[in-house]
Amino acid sequence: MPTRSELPTLPVLDAPSLRTRPPRAGARPDTGLEEYGTETTVLPSFHVWTLGCQMNMSDSEEMAGALLAAGCSEAAGIEQADLIVINTCSIREAAEHKVIGRMGVLGRLKEANPALRVVLTGCSVRADNQGVLQRRYPAVDLFLRPDEEPELTARLGLAGLTTADQLGDGRFQRVGRSVAATADRLPGTRAAAVEEGRIARSRGVKAWVPIVYGCDKTCTYCIVPFARGPERSRPYDDILAEVGQLAEAGYRELTLLGQNVNSWGHDLEPDRRFAHIAGGRELGRKQARDGRPDIAALLRGIDAIGDDEGSSGIGRVRFVTSHPWDLTDRLIAAMAECASVCEHLHLPVQSGDDEVLRRMGRQYTVEAYLDLVDRLRAAVPGISLTTDIITGFCGETEAQFESTLELLRRVRFDQVFAAAYSPRPGTPAVRLADDVPAAEKKRRLNELLAAQEAIGLELNQAWVGRRTEVLVDEIRQPRQHDHEVVAGRGPRLVGRNREHKLVHFDGPERLVGELVEVHIERAGPYALVGRRVGEPDHA
Ligand code: SF4
Repeated sequence: MPTRSELPTLPVLDAPSLRTRPPRAGARPDTGLEEYGTETTVLPSFHVWTLGCQMNMSDSEEMAGALLAAGCSEAAGIEQADLIVINTCSIREAAEHKVIGRMGVLGRLKEANPALRVVLTGCSVRADNQGVLQRRYPAVDLFLRPDEEPELTARLGLAGLTTADQLGDGRFQRVGRSVAATADRLPGTRAAAVEEGRIARSRGVKAWVPIVYGCDKTCTYCIVPFARGPERSRPYDDILAEVGQLAEAGYRELTLLGQNVNSWGHDLEPDRRFAHIAGGRELGRKQARDGRPDIAALLRGIDAIGDDEGSSGIGRVRFVTSHPWDLTDRLIAAMAECASVCEHLHLPVQSGDDEVLRRMGRQYTVEAYLDLVDRLRAAVPGISLTTDIITGFCGETEAQFESTLELLRRVRFDQVFAAAYSPRPGTPAVRLADDVPAAEKKRRLNELLAAQEAIGLELNQAWVGRRTEVLVDEIRQPRQHDHEVVAGRGPRLVGRNREHKLVHFDGPERLVGELVEVHIERAGPYALVGRRVGEPDHA
């Protein structure tokens, strides 16, 4: 296993844009006093551009918090910034193309502002691909691996609360043929950031709480295990402390995050509070827990926060992303018994064919997945299920794609996030033949989305006439594709119910951040439209 010193190190950059503040117009400098004057400096204003999953969004909140704590300010937009942090995603090709497409613009911004620095981080940055990245992203000054994100301010030469010395060395581990950074310090730097209030949460009502970093799974199309390293769980008490803070601050919903959130805790030390937890996993390799906590225990701990401390607790708890391997009966029981856990689960299936699943390295069969669905629906009546699907994976035949459509019709997911397969450099699947033509992948994708649209519409229509509790997120102008559900009154407020359905309704701005009872009047494939309970019908 190579040590950090054996690997190429990134340059420490000059402090970006440490400019002397210009004198105010009209002020007459007293040259006699000049030598006694203090020099005021302007720290860089920053803009964080985030692509990809909720984990990236949470990481961006932490980096923004560190920059604010170092004295920087948030720029009004990317064009006004002295420091641009791009937190990108390489799971899908589209995100990378988006960033590559902005290199020209970033180059022009740097010409106009020579002090501008551009940092790129996220799953695209690995221990072994710096040369490729420099060619692909010429406007970028500094590449940070996900495990190096706590070093952001130190690498930029900014006086932050965290210095490179305090961070210590990261560690590296071989994952397959690659070297992944393990960064065991991530749980610790998160705990310090929480304690010192250094997380710039983007919203005051909903919060993300990362609980496990990295992934131990073997999905052949995925870069995460190579980019983020093996799983490292945050300690139980640290997570509960962060959730307690959020409850006191009035947050109403939190989402526990992990690339494979259900496996949280298996790498922690045994703890006698969890002596009753012996086994784990219904699918895949059986994992002995031997008194280590699992996510079921964590959900129960979070659910009890309000009771123990006399505060209101968090009313809504979600967790994402779940791999079917680690969806145990203990977890399903916790979902059923904890009042705060929402009646929704995102459970990626990826394909409806066993042979394709095997090539994807998913380690479950369609039958096992369907069994989980049945158990979830029996334990949590009315649970909504969403999933991810890849069309046109290596070697996928028409018959195998048909099996995926059949799975869709059988499960009747509330929503499907689908993408056509694109080989990602550095993943094991690049050694498989990418033999489904691009046009065919797209055709399958469109067929699948059309089938799902009909299912989504039917499921949403079953909500018409019901009342549901909506946590209002924002005011939003109607979008073009919402036309069939928003025609007429033009709803302004948008939020989600516990089942994660998007709900539009009219109401005053002050309701943003509130829980509101809504009577559903209409439904489209992607959203529900209703009226606030108690509001007169003005149609
Ligand atoms: S579970 Fe599979 S798809 Fe998800 S992050 Fe891990 S390797 Fe990637």
